[in-house]
Formats: sequence, C-alpha cells, structure tokens
Amino acid sequence: MNPSKTLAASKKAFQCIVVGGGHAGCEAAAASARSGASTLLLTHKRSTIGEMSCNPSFGGIGKGHLLREIDALDGICPRICDKSAITYQALNRGAGPAVLGLRAQIDRKLYKKFMQKEIFEEIPNLDVYEGAVEDLYLEQPTSPNGIPKVKGVILADGRHIYSDCVVITTGTFLSAEIYKGNVTTPAGRIGDAASYGLSKTFSNVGFRLGRLRTGTPPRLIADSIDFSKFELMPPDEKPIMFSFLNKEPWLAPEKQYPTYLGYTNPTVAELVMKYVKGSKHVAEEINGPRYCPSLEAKVLRFENLKHRLFLEHEGLDSNIIYPQGMSMTFDDEIQLAIMRSIPGLEKCEIVQAGYGVHYDFVNPQQLKTSLETKLINGLFLAGQINGTTGYEEAAAQGLLAGLNASLKSQQKDLLTLDRSQAYLGVLIDDLTSLGTNEPYRMFTSRAEFRLHLRPDNADLRLTQIGRDFGVVNNHRFGIFSELREKYETCKKRLDAIKFSLPKWCQILDGFQTKASSKTLTAFEMLSRHNIALNELAKKFPSELGAFSDDDDLAYRISSESRYAIEHRRLIKKVDEMREELKAKLPDSLDYSKITEINLECREKLANYRPQNIAAASRVPGVTPDVLITLLRYAKRAP
Ligand code: FAD
Repeated sequence: MNPSKTLAASKKAFQCIVVGGGHAGCEAAAASARSGASTLLLTHKRSTIGEMSCNPSFGGIGKGHLLREIDALDGICPRICDKSAITYQALNRGAGPAVLGLRAQIDRKLYKKFMQKEIFEEIPNLDVYEGAVEDLYLEQPTSPNGIPKVKGVILADGRHIYSDCVVITTGTFLSAEIYKGNVTTPAGRIGDAASYGLSKTFSNVGFRLGRLRTGTPPRLIADSIDFSKFELMPPDEKPIMFSFLNKEPWLAPEKQYPTYLGYTNPTVAELVMKYVKGSKHVAEEINGPRYCPSLEAKVLRFENLKHRLFLEHEGLDSNIIYPQGMSMTFDDEIQLAIMRSIPGLEKCEIVQAGYGVHYDFVNPQQLKTSLETKLINGLFLAGQINGTTGYEEAAAQGLLAGLNASLKSQQKDLLTLDRSQAYLGVLIDDLTSLGTNEPYRMFTSRAEFRLHLRPDNADLRLTQIGRDFGVVNNHRFGIFSELREKYETCKKRLDAIKFSLPKWCQILDGFQTKASSKTLTAFEMLSRHNIALNELAKKFPSELGAFSDDDDLAYRISSESRYAIEHRRLIKKVDEMREELKAKLPDSLDYSKITEINLECREKLANYRPQNIAAASRVPGVTPDVLITLLRYAKRAP
C-alpha cells in the first residue's frame, strides 16, 4: 500500500473498515486483509499505531496462551514481540506445560516501529488513513423485526466511507476521561482525544453501555534509581519465543535486561491512606481491573500487606523504568513522595506521572460468538470496548473479528471457536454468555480444558482451522504441515510400541518398577515413567531414530503424554455433569472455604448464592471445572 495516501484521495468503498489502530485494530485489519477483503484501517493518528498504552510487556499466565493462539492463526503481534523483546521471563516454569506463562519485556519503540512497518508496508489489500470516526452509516431495516445493516462510517468532518462490514476497536477511548489528583480531563489516554460520537451511536441503537476504569503508574528515570536495593531477576537462560516461526531470540540472553523486585512498606500505606480520601478516581463506583489493581485499591483492601513492585526497562536505549504494580492517580508531588519512600527509590525522578482512565464499554452479551453484534448486521466489536483488559485479549479478539468481518463481506461462513478448542473460545464464550462488570483478563483457571489448551499445541489445535478459513498464509502453513506430519508419525510409532512393564525393565537401561504385568505403550512410558524420547529413540532406532535430538518435538510429545489421560477423564466428567444440573447446593455452603475454586469465583458464588448447579453455571466466571467441584458439595446436601 501507499503510506502517503490521504483520505481525501480515496473515493473507493472497502469490504471491511477497522476503526482503531491499537492491538485489536492492528490484528483485525491484518486478518481481514490476509483473508482476502479490501480493508481500511482508520485511526486517530498513524503515529500511535502499535502504541502500548501501559506496561512494556506482553504475555503472562493465560495471556501467553492467547499469544500462541494468535500466532497459530498467523496473527502479527507474537512475531513482532519476538523482534522487539528485551527480556524473556516465562512464569510458572515449574508448574507444567499446561500453565506455563510465556512472557517478555518489550522495547516500546521497537514494537511500534515493527508494527507500523508491518501494517504500512507488508500487508497487501490494506490501506491506512487518519480520521476520527464519529458515527456509523446505517441502512434501516425494511421489516419491523429487522435490524439495521452497517454501510460504512461517518467521520468527524462529515465524510462518509463505505464498506460492507465494520470492526470497531476503540479501546479505552469511548467517552473517556483521565484522572489525576482532582483534575479530570476528557482523553482516551494521555495525549489522545476521547471519542464521544460512537458512544452516542451505540446508545441510540439500543446497546447497553457500562463504565470501567484502569490506570497506569508513574515512569521513573533509570539513573535516579539505586537498583542494588532491589532483588535482581535475571532473564531466562533458555528463552521461549512467542511465535512458532521463531526458535532463537534476536537478543542473546546475556544481552537482555534484568527485572528488579521490591516491596511497598508502611510509609507507602500511610501516604496512600492519608491522600486517598480526596481521590476522585477511587471515589467513583466504577470497577477497575481486579488483577492489576491500582496502589490505592491494594492498600485500601490490604493496608498491612507488603505489595510487590517490579522495575522493568522500557527499552534498550531508553532511560525510563516502568514500576509495575504502582499504578496510581494522586497529584504529582504525592506520587513522588510515595515512590521515594521505597528503599532504592529515595532519589528517584518521575518523567511522567501515573493517571487513571474511565471509559464506556459495550455489554458483550450483545455480541454473537463471531463477535458480530446482535443489534447491527455487519458490525463487529473487538478489544477493550468489549469489557476486556490487556493487549493479548484485545489482539486475539481483533484477529477473530477482522477475519469474520472479511468472511462476511465475502459471503462465506464465519469462524467461531468453542471452549474446548482455544482460550480465545473461552474468552468469547465468557463475555458473550455472562457479560462482565469488571475489566476481564484471561487466566488459565478460566479454562476447564486447560490441560489440553496448552501453549505448545496451539498450532496443532488451530493452524489447520485458520487455513480452512483463509487466514493462514502459505509460508506458515508449509512449516506447520511439516511439523504436524513429523509429530503425528512420531506419535503413531510411539503408540505402536507396546510391552509389559517387566519387559520395559529389560529394554531400558536402569529402568526399574514394581513388578506388574501391565502393558504400556512407548507414548505412555514418556509421562508415566518419565522416559525421554531420545532414550526411546536409541532403543528403537528404526522406528524412532528420525525423531532424536528434536527438543521441540520431544517437549510437545511428552506434554501431550503427560495430560492425555486427565484430559480424557475431564471430557467424560463434563458429559456426566450434564445430567446433574438439578443437584441442590446447600444454603449453608461456605464458599470461602472451597479453596479448589479461585478467589474471584468464590466471591461471586458467595454473592449470588445459587440454589442448584444449573443456577451456579450462570454465575459470571463459573466454568464447568468449578461446577464439577461444586457437585461434590451438592451431593453432600441432605
Ligand atoms: P487501544 O490500544 O486503546 O486502541 C484504541 C485505538 O482506537 C487507538 O489507536 C485510538 O486512537 C483509536 N480510536 C479510538 N476512537 C477512535 C475513533 N473514534 N476513530 C478512530 N480511531 C479511534 N491493560 C493491562 O492489561 N494492564 C494494565 O495495567 C493496563 N493499564 C492501562 C492503563 C491505561 C492508562 C490505559 C489507557 C490502558 C491500560 N491497559 C492495561 C489496557 C490496554 O492498554 C488495553 O487493554 C489495550 O491497549 C486494548 O487494546 P485495544 O486495541 O482494544 O485499544
């Protein structure tokens, strides 16, 4: 495409228009164009495409899974993360492959540079214009029970741009206000104007809107910090890439930047308690992110706890540090006093103070699982506008919404994913069936099939589906097909090698187990007796020799083996449970004591107090996994 093209120069209509150039918008525009629709990305400023509004990092528990799924569907964000990562630090390494949290610190400037290069230069079929969308151009229904059909968008200056489908990804910008001290300013994020027109359009059409809030911490000058007073967290020696297409980091681990861990203290709590009473951001009855709360919210809830903070570099050639965990909205001098009361930050300087933002979101129960709205034909929504928080949640929705808008404009079947196929399926099912009243973020605990929905098998779960729906290009599909063939051949051969345990003791050097006549396949031996694929390959060279020394394959196969039985057991349990929906839950049930259920869910159950399992299934955030746990308590009821 021609990056210098201006809106005035274009009279053409598009098959798909994507509004917003954040994480959802970039992925939506790329997926729409990749799958064959002439696409326009319309956003306030070309220069903010690829902007990371808050933390300079991608991934985490559940979020890393989403990134792998985006990559499996040939999305762009995971590849760009790998090009701009300055520290890989996977979370939960010891807890097993199903809950491994891929994560990396990202160089803010590099990420934006590579994202803009991709969007401006590397995607055929995609145009990018600057403009503020104020309204939708709708064709009214001809029958009394019909719904309007989107025909394009209307810009702030009154111009119309026509298209068959529209994807709105306006993030935190709808009727947004930023909060610092007692000052409130209309803005979507610092330096960017809010968007009012679209909130009005949605209300007029009958969408139910809600209001949420989020916030960001002050940024510090690195030279003003004494890092020796913090705990050093070095980068991983063996970094795990986000994209299946990448094997090694562009920056060697020894050149990557460490993170530093510190804690708040009683002085911080005292200052927060002293000034929080006057805080407008906190005073308003609006929900903020439960899992990334502001300092004010943390101290108000747990005044006597030491709260963790992580010092993270914003980039290779940047002198700015992001203090993760210290999001706050006080006046500048109070923010400085709070930060300086932490050992190592006594002399710290703030380059940009923290602030909060309140914004409108659209109740996602008004969406279909394709992310098309139920109220306007051809209109799709993705990202923070749907009540989620986080770059990964936004990007994953963007990809699906962009693909489906493109498919719809080409009169093709749309793609939907269910809870057993992908975290993206879990996210969309949670949002569309239960809605949300607080910023929704992904966690592995939300997925009942988490033993199967692993980062290591995202491509095996999704790439063929993506290919069938036209969003996976030839290059990726070629690499994937080779891998899949190797994986399937290896698995088949492992399944075909079967011996009794005493026989395995004879075959494998040093392998001993209590005598049992049980027969196990080589595939089962991998996980049940912790035998490495390489070791098996040495003993069965003609069957398995071709698979030795392939660490990636060995990891995938052993992860699959590790969870295969439990996954089958879970599927059976879920089927059985359908019969048990009427089981009663005792009135006296103390949810706070059911520690197998996560805290958020326990609180919601205690609040709603469902009468039976069927009612519990409708409580926001209750997954089939939670229902299985509840069933044990229901059965105990008199
Ligand atoms: P955004 O990235 O917000 O992008 C929206 C895009 O739409 C922008 O390009 C904007 O210019 C464009 N746009 C808006 N309105 C219009 C219009 N009318 N016409 C044309 N273009 C328009 N997430 C976390 O996970 N943890 C955090 O701690 C966290 N803190 C945050 C703090 C702040 C202050 C902010 C603003 C966000 C924070 N987030 C946090 C959220 C995170 O930034 C978002 O989840 C993510 O960026 C959402 O992506 P998105 O694509 O939906 O929207």
